[in-house]
Amino acid sequence: MNKKIESILQRYSSDRTRLMDMLWDVQDEYGYISDEVLPDLGEGLKLSPLDVRETASFYHFFHSRPAGRHRLYLSNTVIAKMKGFNAVYAALEAETGARFGSIDDSGMFGLFETNCIGLSDQEPAMMVGKVVFNHLTPAKVRDIIGKLKAGQSPEEIVNPEGIPRDQLAYVEAMVESNIRRKGPVFFQAETDINALLDSCLKRHPEELILATTRSRMRGRGGAGFSAGLKWRLCREAEGDVKYIICNADEGEPGTFKDRVLLTHSPREVFAGMVIAGHCVGSVKGIVYLRAEYFYLKDYLESQLQQMRDDNLLGNNVLDQGLNFDIRIQMGAGAYICGDESALIESCEGKRGTPRLKPPFPVQQGFLDKPTAVSNVETFVAVARMLDKGSRWYESLGTTHSTGTRLLSISGDCTAPGIYEVEWGTTLNHALRMAGAEDSKAAQISGPSGECVSIRQDGERRFCYSDLSCNGSLMVFDHSRDLLAVVRDFMQFFVDESCGICTPCRAGNVDLLHKIDLIMAGKGQFSDLDDLVNWSRIVQRTSRCGLGGTSPKPILSTLKKFPEIYQQKIRKHHGPLLPSFDAAAAVAGYQQARDELLQEDVE
Ligand code: SF4
Repeated sequence: MNKKIESILQRYSSDRTRLMDMLWDVQDEYGYISDEVLPDLGEGLKLSPLDVRETASFYHFFHSRPAGRHRLYLSNTVIAKMKGFNAVYAALEAETGARFGSIDDSGMFGLFETNCIGLSDQEPAMMVGKVVFNHLTPAKVRDIIGKLKAGQSPEEIVNPEGIPRDQLAYVEAMVESNIRRKGPVFFQAETDINALLDSCLKRHPEELILATTRSRMRGRGGAGFSAGLKWRLCREAEGDVKYIICNADEGEPGTFKDRVLLTHSPREVFAGMVIAGHCVGSVKGIVYLRAEYFYLKDYLESQLQQMRDDNLLGNNVLDQGLNFDIRIQMGAGAYICGDESALIESCEGKRGTPRLKPPFPVQQGFLDKPTAVSNVETFVAVARMLDKGSRWYESLGTTHSTGTRLLSISGDCTAPGIYEVEWGTTLNHALRMAGAEDSKAAQISGPSGECVSIRQDGERRFCYSDLSCNGSLMVFDHSRDLLAVVRDFMQFFVDESCGICTPCRAGNVDLLHKIDLIMAGKGQFSDLDDLVNWSRIVQRTSRCGLGGTSPKPILSTLKKFPEIYQQKIRKHHGPLLPSFDAAAAVAGYQQARDELLQEDVE
């Protein structure tokens, strides 16, 4: 067996669930995951080479072919395209000599587009391997590529002072936090994690679950499920072993609040997990961290170690009899892993394919054991709520949406960043805080949410019964082409569909083609009916939330901005369907005819 592969297998005790980590190590070693390493990896894990490839091929950041010594991933979100993406794209091609989707002749650079990397407040942005560069301009690109060619590493460029990677200063040297507005719940320096854990571990789990339920806190992952009820269900589920998973796979374009929480409140996140472990009877927690946040990993590991050193993690936490520890599982680029069952599959070293439900993860989750999966923001909120009390938490927000919410605001505004607002805050108020003027539309909750009109909806409120925002708020002013935004979002869903069910895999492609047709001025009014009908089919027959929400950019803009479609619809009077392009249809025939004539001449 290849010695390097053998050593990688040993590093993870040949544990099949650690396949993602092994694949990262292989790629770090060789630059890509070649077919040659698959038999050895498979042998060590009692899998076939194809099983290993099956997992590796699912994730955007794993390469099966040489992908360049420096792999550059440029974020291609709509926000990036509003902030200079095209110029940066051209500069990267010019400076590296590579074309996007390939490597340059020397093999030094590989250029790739990627979906949102969680930096919508500082676009254009890219990753060079695991290092992040933000606020890109053509001049900055020239500088970065010049330094890489001169032999500097990405880390040396971004961190010339050589700050250790496990320090907060290292993270801050690379990425801005842009916390614009603090509220009563998040980013609180006063929270004493030691005292909080000590008091929580002295309380009976039932009491803590009751307090969480009484606070009426809902999970922040999008579904808005009661945090207390989830713990109760997991506690009551049959199982000798139970797991707590923190979903840090913040993949919804335009969302970056978890990035900032992990930067400034990691101990609150971990404390929330310890409390959850105490409540459900778990000894093991996993933080599933998206690969785009690799730059945070060493820092988070150091925070975990510090908590172990302080007896806040590990065996007999604070001498209260609880054994609970946390490990970090890196993702590798797959939006669908934000779905809790897909995330669990990924944690098990498999493709991130959503599971059929039921059973739900609280019944059968990680390794088929009861598993409570919650979002980063939920763990911080629950830790704070238990510190201050459920009545205090309940007094914030509205009757049915208690507490506060973090908004990641980006796009056409002067102060993009993180804002903590009480539930019940109006959209107009949030826009004013972020310095958004002349706003036309806002995309609430990313592409899977809804596009609203500022004129019609500005006084609507963020709450579960109205704008149940998942944390992403993208703002578009009157200069923006909303149909192009819709197209971008549909392309995103086509790229990110896991492909297991046909309505989502094929239906989103059909919807995208229909949008292209309309944008090209070849649509007719019946195409709008098709968009609605096909969207309903995709929504009703898809397995998971991705297919359930992917047509929403189309449906919500058809409702709020029908004119962006109507303006493109061709008035049709001729004998042919407007979508039928006669010139294109005969082009192949004419070319073949010309070639035959040429052969005759010769
Ligand atoms: Fe996969 Fe889409 Fe089906 Fe979800 S709806 S399981 S993402 S194919």
